[in-house]
Amino acid sequence: MSVFPRISLKPEVTDFLRSVFLNKEVLAAVGHQEAECRFHKLLSCLSHPPSYTCVRASTHLAPLEEIRLKLGEELKKQQMCSSSVEDVQILPHPRIPDVLLLPVDGPRAVKQLSSEVVVGAQCGNAVLRGAHVFAPGIVASPKYMKEGDLVSVFSDLEGKCTRGAISFQGKRAFVGNGVAEMNRSRIFRTDEPAKGIGVRMVEPLYHSPSFDGVLPGLAFLQNLPSVVVGHVLGPRPGERILDMCAAPGGKTCHIAALMGDQGEVVALDRIRNKIDKICQNAQMLHLRSIKAHCFNSTQAVSSDPSQEAEGPPFPPESFDRVLLDAPCSGLGQRPNMASTWGLKEICSYQPLQRKLFHAAVQLLKKGGVLVYSTCTVTLAENEEQVAWALNTFPCLTLQPQEPHVGAEGMLGAGLTAEQLSLLQRFSPELIWDQAETAAAPLHCRADRDTIGFFIAKFLKN
Ligand code: SAM
Repeated sequence: MSVFPRISLKPEVTDFLRSVFLNKEVLAAVGHQEAECRFHKLLSCLSHPPSYTCVRASTHLAPLEEIRLKLGEELKKQQMCSSSVEDVQILPHPRIPDVLLLPVDGPRAVKQLSSEVVVGAQCGNAVLRGAHVFAPGIVASPKYMKEGDLVSVFSDLEGKCTRGAISFQGKRAFVGNGVAEMNRSRIFRTDEPAKGIGVRMVEPLYHSPSFDGVLPGLAFLQNLPSVVVGHVLGPRPGERILDMCAAPGGKTCHIAALMGDQGEVVALDRIRNKIDKICQNAQMLHLRSIKAHCFNSTQAVSSDPSQEAEGPPFPPESFDRVLLDAPCSGLGQRPNMASTWGLKEICSYQPLQRKLFHAAVQLLKKGGVLVYSTCTVTLAENEEQVAWALNTFPCLTLQPQEPHVGAEGMLGAGLTAEQLSLLQRFSPELIWDQAETAAAPLHCRADRDTIGFFIAKFLKN
């Protein structure tokens, strides 16, 4: 764990997060030392990838065991082509019927080379989760780099490296070694931007298989808490479901798969080119029940309730279930070695989430289920939103979640112990120490060592 520094945040954001994790209710419950320890663990966890790769298997197309065996064969072929040939461990999750878990090996001791390629932070994060370096992600390379050169890859943490530079000494982190698959001149050609793999990683700092093009219809890379969301929503065949903030469509596709592709899943997203991604994913997974529209979901309730609508806006009470996987500050994402966001940006999401929530409640039928989720760790976007929702919409009640593999909600928003027990917070800072981790069964470790995530399930009475 010590190879990386902890996540680098603006001081005002660090102070804000510290005040969240050391709030009065937490201090009264666990004491100052434990609260401080959890906060530091969180900062350290965030800069590392989770120690398991989670794959959602398309069990609507084939049995889990068949997909597991096929995946094993494919990944073995991939390893034959690389320098390390180790047995690929792929384990089913005992409580989630469409999840396969693959342990990640790292951080490993990898020697840095003198030839250096610099990639954008997003690309660097993808490399830490098993990806190769795609040419558009490269921002700097040695002046005479040619195909076949062995290079060290660094992530530009603050986005300060100029595209086309030959070196960069700003804030950066080493992510592993690889072999260039393109000459420098090809990578930075302006008339025809380069596509495809620019550097094939052969000694990544964290070793996990690359899923690029591996069983595209059967194995979908998805964070464990995101898979849990689909199950918690509990869609049934024949229902009409709304996914309000859907792109790139990971959860939309999961919902459609859980319904056996019977019924209708309406997927909305405000950004037009992201709608194509939802459609591509639906096509890749052979799902026909998904209808994607570019639309601002805060406006998704029709002012003419009598009008039947196939597309948005919709009359009130149009859906059996609604998923609000809200746009959020994303502070639970891992790995995230640095964030340049200020407090203003971090705090800007609460009002938007509330507007979306208003639309969600109106669009839901009586007796319907609403699931609210985020991939962030703040109280303002999670437990405080639940407290606000319960106050604002007396028709909503919190519901138990199945499966419940994360922790309970966090203290600090004035919710009761019973209410907190109904919430699911994935809290990587609650991970055990090394000895406990080693002794725990793999799936228990995988349940704890996840991205930071939050799920609340409501019933509209
Ligand atoms: N549910 C997605 C999945 O699992 O693949 C991830 C959704 S991401 C957390 C949030 C999404 O909300 C982004 O794609 C963003 O474009 C979209 N978004 C933000 N504001 C929106 C709005 N007012 N209406 C609809 N979509 C919005």
